[in-house]
Amino acid sequence: MSDHYVKVKVQLEQMKSSGEGVEKEEADMIEDEVLVASPPASVSPIPASCTPAAQREPPKTTVTCRNQSKSRSKLGKDEKNTGTKQDSVPALQGTIVASNANSGKPVNRKDNEQQTLQIKGTGKMLQGKTETNGNAVPIHLPEDIKVGPHNKEDANKVAKRRKPVTVDTFKAKTSLEALKLSIRQLKWKEFPVGRRSACDIYWHGVSFHDNDNIISGQVNKFPGMIEMLRKINLTRAVRTMQELFPEEYNFYPRSWILPEEYQLFSTQISLAKDGDVSQKPTFIIKPDGGSQGDGIYLIRDPGDLRVIAGSHTKQSVVQEYIHKPLLIDKLKFDIRLYVLVKSLEPLEIYIAKEGLSRFCTEPYQEPSQKNLSHVFMHLTNYSLNVQSGNFVHSDSLSSGSKRTFSSVLYRLASKGVDIKKVWSDIISLVIKTIIALVPELKVYYQADIPPGKPGPTCFQILGFDILLMKNLKPVLLEVNANPSMRIEHEQEVSPGVFEYVPSPVDEEVKVGVIRDTLRLMDPHQQEELLGSPVRGAGEEGRVLPSMCLKQVFPKYTKQFSYLRTVERITALFLRFLGVKGNMRLGPTGFRTFIRNCKLSNSHFSMATVDILYIDVTRRWASMLPGSREAGMGLQAFVEAFFYLAQRRFKSLPLREQVVSLLEVCEAQLENQGRGDPGGALPEDSTSSTRRSVSYHLRRLDGI
Ligand code: ADP
Repeated sequence: MSDHYVKVKVQLEQMKSSGEGVEKEEADMIEDEVLVASPPASVSPIPASCTPAAQREPPKTTVTCRNQSKSRSKLGKDEKNTGTKQDSVPALQGTIVASNANSGKPVNRKDNEQQTLQIKGTGKMLQGKTETNGNAVPIHLPEDIKVGPHNKEDANKVAKRRKPVTVDTFKAKTSLEALKLSIRQLKWKEFPVGRRSACDIYWHGVSFHDNDNIISGQVNKFPGMIEMLRKINLTRAVRTMQELFPEEYNFYPRSWILPEEYQLFSTQISLAKDGDVSQKPTFIIKPDGGSQGDGIYLIRDPGDLRVIAGSHTKQSVVQEYIHKPLLIDKLKFDIRLYVLVKSLEPLEIYIAKEGLSRFCTEPYQEPSQKNLSHVFMHLTNYSLNVQSGNFVHSDSLSSGSKRTFSSVLYRLASKGVDIKKVWSDIISLVIKTIIALVPELKVYYQADIPPGKPGPTCFQILGFDILLMKNLKPVLLEVNANPSMRIEHEQEVSPGVFEYVPSPVDEEVKVGVIRDTLRLMDPHQQEELLGSPVRGAGEEGRVLPSMCLKQVFPKYTKQFSYLRTVERITALFLRFLGVKGNMRLGPTGFRTFIRNCKLSNSHFSMATVDILYIDVTRRWASMLPGSREAGMGLQAFVEAFFYLAQRRFKSLPLREQVVSLLEVCEAQLENQGRGDPGGALPEDSTSSTRRSVSYHLRRLDGI
């Protein structure tokens, strides 16, 4: 064992033994970090936390450096100057592991033995872990799942009796390969072309609506998730939270929505520059709904915006460019983390202990007018960098242009970085982001699957893209509703001939995520042995790797539940929306809300309420030109609610104003629940009220 490894191990051990009380929860995170920060491939190529990729057949070709640069020229004309020659990234090249047919297999087994078990008919092996003292560690599920009182014999009997879980994979698209492997490992039953009778789980490649005829079971997509994660909507959702909790949501770069906020953007930048002439900020423009770096470019002056210069004003987000990212081997990289939203109500979130780190292929320099167009320097997208001649495909999990996140953490730990803090900051970023998304997702959910009607339940794996700043602060770049679950990559096997070959690092991470998501969604789980090591229908019982998904919510509810204010506003919205499948509140619904919550009085008449409704709804309609449904959406309702709160509780800060108004509303509605007739006045929309609307509209122009 090298000195360097011993040092890191000691640091990890120290992390393990800290904390009590509130810190106890932190200490739980620490344990997970120990798993995350597993040694690099040369010590143990399989992070203790995750999946058995290393037992796959070795890939056909082991190391590839593509020389050709299939240019997609995302950042424009200068791409030829981006230094795509292989010798420009010597550090990376030096890390390629010399390989042979066995290179993907664990080495140095003395310290970290692997127990393997052949899975019938698959040629694959499943694995258990052996501790350094040589004793077998019983395979354990996460601490959140309690094992029932049954003994192993009972468990085997139950397993034999039970029918295998059925999974419809017909719509799985590019996830299919990883999904098939997972189903095989679990000994569940796959229905590749669908099934006449209902399946337990439906795996969709794109959206909830890939198949609209599902009335039972579970679907791996939430309605509305794609819409919510478009760049503009994500920005809006985070921004609402920033208004209430500016400190807590400062992990998202300052952003403006184009074209509607162009003037604001321009003015704010000019003012900032006037105030400090040394300021030369850079901005990144991202088209709404874009992916894989498509259409992204950098600017240093608002006047350089192409959306404004061109004939089309394309919807996009312009964002402060993080110009001091953390570098490894002089390269910028980002982190792809997989997050499972297991349920919205109650909110349940899991984070995969293992993720991917995706590296740029040209050494990083702070943005200057000269290098703004260098995609391989500024953008970490795999789809772009794979086209650079410098991209390194590696069989090792800890080298190359795509590596495991644990190998990066391990490397940082060896340099003295407090990876415990990094990991817990990341967990907190993930939970806060999901808390920002949940309100609108609940509206979509109720519209598509109204309570009381037959329908499936939903879960979803999301891909979080996170950048670490030089000071180690994590920054959210975006969240993907459909993160790539491909476990193979394209490779030139002979000149001009490309083939898909297995990608060890992708398989290592992604199969574990899918398999453990399935394990958590196992419909038998509720009925039987939660978390028993013996699962599935195998006669001999089987051993699966320990879970690579860690529950973070409700586990850390205490620290984060105070952030769920907008969800409480959403509960009011949904209550007055009713369950007819629509997502917009009509004027009548809004008036009923005001009446039932007793928010109108002699200073705030129902006529003024109507004006507020019209004003806010109109403004949002102009911001969301594509929306078909008329009426007040959740975001508009939240804005109106903030306005009402500010009006009523003038002297307080916004957060307290909003919470105070929520308390008023909730108390009123609770009274009605107990039979107070005063709150449930019938809706009255008299013509005289309507007439007065236009008059007040002029008066209240500035709402
Ligand atoms: P896409 O969906 O097209 O991949 P992203 O928002 O993920 O769009 O941005 C693409 C890449 O651009 C990221 O992977 C990251 O490398 C870089 N990037 C995005 N936003 C920023 C930012 N604010 N600061 C620095 N780099 C960024």
